[in-house]
Amino acid sequence: MAADCIFCKIIGKEIPSEFIYEDDEMIAIRDINPKAPVHLLIIPRKHIRSINDLEAVDEALVGRMMTVAKGLAVKEKTDKSGYRVFFNVEKGGGQEVFHLHLHLVGGFDRG
Ligand code: 5GP
Ligand code: ZN
Repeated sequence: MAADCIFCKIIGKEIPSEFIYEDDEMIAIRDINPKAPVHLLIIPRKHIRSINDLEAVDEALVGRMMTVAKGLAVKEKTDKSGYRVFFNVEKGGGQEVFHLHLHLVGGFDRG
């Protein structure tokens, strides 16, 4: 838990937010300002600032974030039509919240 980190506060339930997925390593929430019909954030419970701060010990965690994203895409019915998964890295990469999170953006053309 990092001081003044909004995602640590959401994970710690200091700030109420609906978890659409959770396990012992990560949670997923809907983005408060969605850029698409489906816009989810997959957030590890461990406070890691950005991709720049990943260590070898985090490799399995980041791999699992991708697998969780895949499962959520199915749940949100955007797997067939398609979606994007990405990390913004530091200010120049568009990162605004400095606690690692994977964006899942989709929901287009779901018929
Ligand atoms: P970044 O730009 O850091 O990659 O993405 C941060 C994302 O978090 C933004 O898309 C922003 O809308 C979202 N966000 C920021 N604060 C909150 C919040 O309190 N709750 C939720 N659900 N999303 C948030
Ligand atoms: Zn944090």
